[in-house]
Amino acid sequence: MKATCWMGRNTVEVRNVPDPGIVNARDAVVRVTSTAICGSDLHLYDGYVPTMKKGDILGHEFMGEVVEVGPQVRNLRVGDRVVVPFPIACGNCLSCQNGMYSVCENSNPNAGVAEKLMGHSPAGIFGYSHMLGGYAGGQAEYARVPFADVGPIKVEDGLPDEKVLFLSDILPTGWMGAEMCDIKPGDVIAIWGAGPVGQFAAVSARLMGAERVICIDRLPYRLHHAARAGAETLNYEEVDVLEALREMTAGRGPDACIDAVGMEAHHGNPAMYAYDRTKQATRLETDRPYALRQAILACRNGGTVSVIGVYGGFVDKFPMGAVMNRSLTLRAGQCHVQRYMRPLMDRIRHGDIDPSFVISHRMRLEDAPHAYEMFKNKENECNKVVLTT
Ligand SMILES: [Zn+2]
Ligand SMILES: [Zn+2]
Repeated sequence: MKATCWMGRNTVEVRNVPDPGIVNARDAVVRVTSTAICGSDLHLYDGYVPTMKKGDILGHEFMGEVVEVGPQVRNLRVGDRVVVPFPIACGNCLSCQNGMYSVCENSNPNAGVAEKLMGHSPAGIFGYSHMLGGYAGGQAEYARVPFADVGPIKVEDGLPDEKVLFLSDILPTGWMGAEMCDIKPGDVIAIWGAGPVGQFAAVSARLMGAERVICIDRLPYRLHHAARAGAETLNYEEVDVLEALREMTAGRGPDACIDAVGMEAHHGNPAMYAYDRTKQATRLETDRPYALRQAILACRNGGTVSVIGVYGGFVDKFPMGAVMNRSLTLRAGQCHVQRYMRPLMDRIRHGDIDPSFVISHRMRLEDAPHAYEMFKNKENECNKVVLTT
């Protein structure tokens, strides 16, 4: 089959690789019909996630048709259309029983590597480094899906791929980012990063009753998408974000702040950016937490900072004094996608949300190298690329 392979920093190739097959009784094999490139794939592309190996198959946002099932998968049949959640989760462990699927205790065969960096291991993730399981991803013609009896959701009533594909990650991720803010009527929510996840967080915050949502980015087309999703916008290259947010909230600050940027934050304060860039390049710090620092400083006293942008390891100049002295709540997590797929599928079916608005480019799987390059450089107002097979 053809698959998008990581070949080193800034290089992906679509190569011919062996077809996947059933390994365990709870596996399924899916023929991928649509797959997307995620902002977090760019952290791999840019070479910031450790334990990638040359030839690894990328992709954690995909859906398709079941072509094979293991003997213990009784909920799926060959021919079913399914969307596959990006965290691989067993459904039985303490975490899964509590709905915390992205920290499943059984799905990372390389848990020991993750434990060295993080203390305990989170779940395995499709196409996201050996530290997170070394699973082949779904930017390919076929993918093996472990624990297929608990993860994938069936697509019924003929909803097109474009409306349901983002149930695999970015729609639930944006939703959970807003949910962690415990939004009450009248709340003001600020969101750093107006990419697709930030856009979905904005839509979700509005649906949860936020009075005002403010999205922060530097790319006009992303801010435009956010505005269409019902948000006010701030371009951090044009305004002082902390000052602007203070002004917009009678001096108090937003009730909750969402970091939808993660480890490769750009710009902001040039001196601080240079500091983080240098530390990251010399491996003294793994992540550039500029957006997170600003979100913490901006948040009102007693407010919540919700982190859904991906971080890999360590940050420094972390404003712990602000968190502690101002009674902030810090919440974070890779999305527990399995928990949200059914209710969000219902909202899509009822027409509350049409997630396809984020798609800017539709391309063929073979074009993945070009798509990565375009998405990385934000050329052609590239907001979200869907690859079809
Ligand atoms: Zn993703
Ligand atoms: Zn589990």
